[in-house]
Amino acid sequence: MDLELKGKVAAITGGSEGIGLAVAEALAREGVHIALCARNGERTAAEAERIARQYGVTALGMHVDVTKPEDIADFVSQIENTFGGADILINNAGTGTNETILDAPDDRWQYYWDLHVMAAVRLSRSLAPMMKQRGGGVILNNASICATQPMGHEPIYNTTKAALVMFSKCLANELIPFNIRVNAINPGLIMTAGWTVHAEKITEGTGRTAMDFLSDVAKEHAPIARFATAEELANFFIFLCSPKASYCVGSSYYVDGGWLKVVT
Ligand code: NDP
Repeated sequence: MDLELKGKVAAITGGSEGIGLAVAEALAREGVHIALCARNGERTAAEAERIARQYGVTALGMHVDVTKPEDIADFVSQIENTFGGADILINNAGTGTNETILDAPDDRWQYYWDLHVMAAVRLSRSLAPMMKQRGGGVILNNASICATQPMGHEPIYNTTKAALVMFSKCLANELIPFNIRVNAINPGLIMTAGWTVHAEKITEGTGRTAMDFLSDVAKEHAPIARFATAEELANFFIFLCSPKASYCVGSSYYVDGGWLKVVT
């Protein structure tokens, strides 16, 4: 299927590894020019260079901490200077948490609010006017199944991802008159460094391997009984970016191997 994405420009936060990088590669394979950002600027620039070489697109990789408004402003300026705007925005940067509500101080809540919600607000506010001028666009917010079905150890993650899903819905209503389609994606278990590092820590010195631990996690939670690769999830992202998904607006799509326990 021709996804009709060739020549578009996509901005992707948290693009140095994991899901963000897989989405960047999948888009670049379709001929999309790429602007990546993450806090590790060197790694992000190196991935951008590799993508440019491998797929023959223009790719920018920058140091940006998306919790900082001034870093977001720099990212947007670079996108404007390099590409004259963007057609696609993937708000992906984020990470799990571990706390109890009674113990977590305000600054912890604030950090993840900035990371999971305000980064998407600020980037959408900056890039949507450019999308309007270009005749339309796509914004995808990478939330989580935990936005609906919370995990016990991470109340701040669950809460901020739920807020991101509601933000998506409100933004979708505001922007569809300008041909900008906004959606949220709620992934389940996706095999990325966050999971492998966590599994290595938990199994250290126990005689169990990290892979055994992850296999048990998958069997416990997902009827499909395995993790997805980041590439499997990226396939769904790029479909939603495509004009082929022209009637997909204001929804939350679960990509979770059957993990969600209710019908919504
Ligand atoms: P990874 O840890 O593999 O990648 C996270 C990316 O975000 C990295 O590029 C990281 O780079 C970047 N990042 C983190 N904090 C910031 C920040 N403050 N500013 C800019 N960039 C930042 O995670 P995943 O690929 O697994 O996760 C990506 C998204 O998908 C997250 O929002 C996560 O919540 C969501 N998700 C993941 C699931 C999974 O099972 N893996 C399931 C459901 C949702 P750097 O550290 O250099 O900043």
